[in-house]
Amino acid sequence: MNDISRLAIDSKFVHHARYAPAEGNRALVSPIHQSVKYMPSSMAHLRSILTNRDKGYVYSRISNPTVRELEHLLADLQGRDDAIGTASGIAALTAVAMTFLSAGDRAVIFTESYKPTRFLLGNVLSRFGVETIRLRRDDYAQFESLCKSSHPPKLVFVESPTNPTLRIHDLEWLTKTARAASCLTVLDNTFAGFLAHGKFDIDIFVHSLTKLAGGHSDAMGGMIICRQELVDKISPVAITLGACLDPNSAWLILRGMKTYGLRLQAASKNAQDLASWLETQSWSQNVRYPSLKNHPDYALWQKQNSSNIGSGMTVVTFELTCKESSVDIFFDSLKLFSVAPSLGCVESLAAPCLLFFGDDLPPEEAKQAGITSKTVRLAIGIEDLNDLKNDLLAAFSAANV
Ligand code: PLP
Repeated sequence: MNDISRLAIDSKFVHHARYAPAEGNRALVSPIHQSVKYMPSSMAHLRSILTNRDKGYVYSRISNPTVRELEHLLADLQGRDDAIGTASGIAALTAVAMTFLSAGDRAVIFTESYKPTRFLLGNVLSRFGVETIRLRRDDYAQFESLCKSSHPPKLVFVESPTNPTLRIHDLEWLTKTARAASCLTVLDNTFAGFLAHGKFDIDIFVHSLTKLAGGHSDAMGGMIICRQELVDKISPVAITLGACLDPNSAWLILRGMKTYGLRLQAASKNAQDLASWLETQSWSQNVRYPSLKNHPDYALWQKQNSSNIGSGMTVVTFELTCKESSVDIFFDSLKLFSVAPSLGCVESLAAPCLLFFGDDLPPEEAKQAGITSKTVRLAIGIEDLNDLKNDLLAAFSAANV
């Protein structure tokens, strides 16, 4: 302070006094560490930071205290050693793919995957000599034969429940088959959440934090969660790709996590009740929600889903029965549901599935994956259930004239 008071004005603009709370005088809410650079306490400290993220901070693209707080929280919830925050879910998937796939390698993906993941593997990494084999969701015979071939896949990308039709993969079988072939399993666990699937032998979990983690449609982020040995391999690639999680977004997501359980409980109850109600409506058919008894994978979902927070699922998918030419009227008539991609936020969303999730697929494959021009995906929020039902009813009667 004394030193600063002797500085010239131009220096004072830059180097003003700091007012950190006294030791023991802790902030209840962690501050946002909105600093790109950190000063080591000594050169020896600097050397230790550069080899271990938990020894301190030097540059926010490498590590940041706010981001680190979120990384540790989510690694703990998912039941793995450590985590790497990224700018978005797709940045997390890109870092994983770029770490483990080289020219000549094979990767397996199932048709029912997030569209940009299909693009990443099929259109981007293919230009670098990676061969991506896209399998029908239930083509386990082909997956097994690839694993037993002389050229087994290096990675398999899985989502469960799948988007948008919410089918469930047999994770025990998949991980066992992949492990026997030294093929890494990457589970995009965005739909199922941090409390699900930790008990399976999954190598790498990827999450989009833009969804239920943040929960309020105001922050983007991604997370890679895995054992330490894999974190150490992915980390330099993620740092170099530069799609690091911004501390401001990390802080918003940390705040979102405080109500994660409450929001999941409320939204999944709404979703479950809405799915049951949709089953009784003449204008909706083929309702897909894994906690409904007549869902084809009901038993598997019950066995695999260990989240114990409501039904654990906030998405419902169904088919409209109206004329194809009236589908746009249905979406245009929604007032409470917003027509938007994404899920897991407090407000309810409606998505035209073919447009958002399936227009890159050959029509036959889209149909096989259960995506038609009349497929609607609802991402349910925490509004009043009757208001949601009335909105859907009004939109359908507008479309059905
Ligand atoms: N994975 C799944 C299953 C998703 O639904 C999404 C986004 O919708 C992503 C990954 C990508 O996440 P982000 O939008 O944060 O990049």
